[in-house]
Amino acid sequence: MSLRPTIDFLLYDWLGAPSLSERERFADHSRETFDAVLDTCERIAREKYAPFNRLVDTEEPRFDGERVILPQATHEAQRAYAESGMLSAAQDYAIGGMQLPYTVEAAANAFFAMASVSMGSGLLTVGNANLLMAHGSEAQKRVFALNEFSGRWSGTMCLSEPQAGSSLSDVATRAVPDGEGFEADPLGPRYRLKGNKMWISAGEHELTENIVHLVLAKIPGPDGKLPPGVKGISLFIVPKKLVDTEGQLTGERNDVALAGLNHKCGWRGTTNTLLNFGEGKYPVRGGAGAIGYLVGQLGEGLRCMFHMMNEARIGVGMAATMLGMAGYHASLDYARNRPQGRPVGPAGKDPAQPPVRIIEHADVKRMLLAQKSYCEGALALALYCARLVDEQHTGAPDAADEARLLLEVLTPIAKSWPSEWCLEANSLAIQVHGGYGYTRDFPVEQYWRDNRLNMIHEGTHGIQAMDLLGRKVLMEQGRGLKALAARIDATVQRAIHVPELAAHANALSEALQAVGAATKAAWATGEPTQALANAVPYMQAFGHTVLAWIWLDVALTAQASPASAARTGRLRAMRFFFHYELPKIGAWLAVVSRRDLTCADMPEEAF
Ligand SMILES: Cc1cc2nc3c(=O)[nH]c(=O)nc-3n(C[C@H](O)[C@H](O)[C@H](O)COP(=O)(O)OP(=O)(O)OC[C@H]3O[C@@H](n4cnc5c(N)ncnc54)[C@H](O)[C@@H]3O)c2cc1C
Repeated sequence: MSLRPTIDFLLYDWLGAPSLSERERFADHSRETFDAVLDTCERIAREKYAPFNRLVDTEEPRFDGERVILPQATHEAQRAYAESGMLSAAQDYAIGGMQLPYTVEAAANAFFAMASVSMGSGLLTVGNANLLMAHGSEAQKRVFALNEFSGRWSGTMCLSEPQAGSSLSDVATRAVPDGEGFEADPLGPRYRLKGNKMWISAGEHELTENIVHLVLAKIPGPDGKLPPGVKGISLFIVPKKLVDTEGQLTGERNDVALAGLNHKCGWRGTTNTLLNFGEGKYPVRGGAGAIGYLVGQLGEGLRCMFHMMNEARIGVGMAATMLGMAGYHASLDYARNRPQGRPVGPAGKDPAQPPVRIIEHADVKRMLLAQKSYCEGALALALYCARLVDEQHTGAPDAADEARLLLEVLTPIAKSWPSEWCLEANSLAIQVHGGYGYTRDFPVEQYWRDNRLNMIHEGTHGIQAMDLLGRKVLMEQGRGLKALAARIDATVQRAIHVPELAAHANALSEALQAVGAATKAAWATGEPTQALANAVPYMQAFGHTVLAWIWLDVALTAQASPASAARTGRLRAMRFFFHYELPKIGAWLAVVSRRDLTCADMPEEAF
């Protein structure tokens, strides 16, 4: 079973991606060039990633005291990815890019996430380099970003610390000016950093010649104390190996040391590290302290980092989606081949009959349809958000601003909804396999383990929910929420005239009103502790409403297409979502609207 027909349908029939080539930036592109990119990525994913997905799980990264060792297959996969040009696909021709729309880049990257999510396809490196293109100096772009886009070096994001995960205001890594003339360094104002960064993905390896760490740190005040809050956080480039202004290695190792590898539940093809910055293990230029170059303005570190985090969040949502999709395809294949049980007829079961394949049982179909509706719906949402990114960057001013607002509201959903529901899809994929699904002889348990990360990193589920209800739906006098409601309403108005879809259109309209009413009720007292006490149920209801909208919109396109099994499948997945999933929002919104304090008020000693 191939992912490609689903990608093609969403990209071309639903989103009309080829029309992007009417824009100046994408004028050289067409469906042919998009297809060529998709063909290449599909092939590399099939040949260099998928066959090694189990290998990278069983052969975890290990540290021999000097180097981190990864399977040879990971080296080869990443080399093939870099050689395909995908690291710089969206960049200008002038710096060697393809000026590919992000919508197509995201679709092409879906093949890698499905084939082997943890072997990586450069998400961090591209995000890191994009941040430097947006906030770095000319020298920083030329020396660091360009060498990342070419695949010569890779990138990390170093935010978390052992004591500062969700609460980045507690970052304790400190940066002090590096001697006389520190401000005049051609690579940017030069500082010395000291501190520990926890959970850093791809923080140490031999896959590339150098590693460009982007590190959040605070500059102590005259009293030697670090300023409280996020306003004192700045951003620094800390290369593992020092380089000159031509991007050549100087031969000096920077003072960044691997303190240890984390041994994870899943996603084992990527190293995850505790890094010590400036502890003196590798004294450099006469002393301890990791050399780092300031990016952007002092105190603007988190704002710059958000540039990278929003892209990363859509990428995390896509990864969660494709892991769900991998489980769906595997369990569908299994269900088509596994004989077990007999159907119940009017006279009960007939033991003389041969067993049927499990796909013939209604409950197995329920589990498969749930997976299809979660994963194909989430993929449509991810591509819709990617299309908004293109609109934000290349649309007319009003359209670009509307896209920006929509992305503000949709990003927490694009990250969190697949992280929860495509993980549930992985659980259902195990269930379809029965006992076999719980063994390592089948791939589905690994998909679940790999996917379990996504509700944790890039802002936990709870933090995303507070961002949505506490900030995103309120910002700019609720303009983002209004823009989303207008889009949902436009879909409702189209669907209401289609007999097959009219009932669903009404259900979506009611759901939208319920979300709007609950948003108001949550904030009725203006008390954040009451409003946010049920932020996660709010996000679940909001997410289900968004997904119902996406499905109805997809169904409008499917419905207008010629009869086929794929058309039937899409319309049935949409119907499943409206009948089995959307009604769940009532329970979630009830506690939000009541500002129910059952959890918030629970006395600690009563647990
Ligand atoms: C495999 C992996 C890869 C990672 N990669 C990177 C990376 O490359 N770079 C990087 O910087 N970080 C990375 N992280 C770190 C990740 O972003 C953090 O784990 C995450 O932000 C949560 O921080 P924490 O683990 O300290 O948990 P905590 O912040 O301690 O949270 C624990 C629990 O408490 C909840 N909680 C915390 N604060 C609140 C609050 N105010 N209100 C309500 N609930 C709250 C959380 O939702 C969570 O459920 C990675 C983590 C993992 C596991």
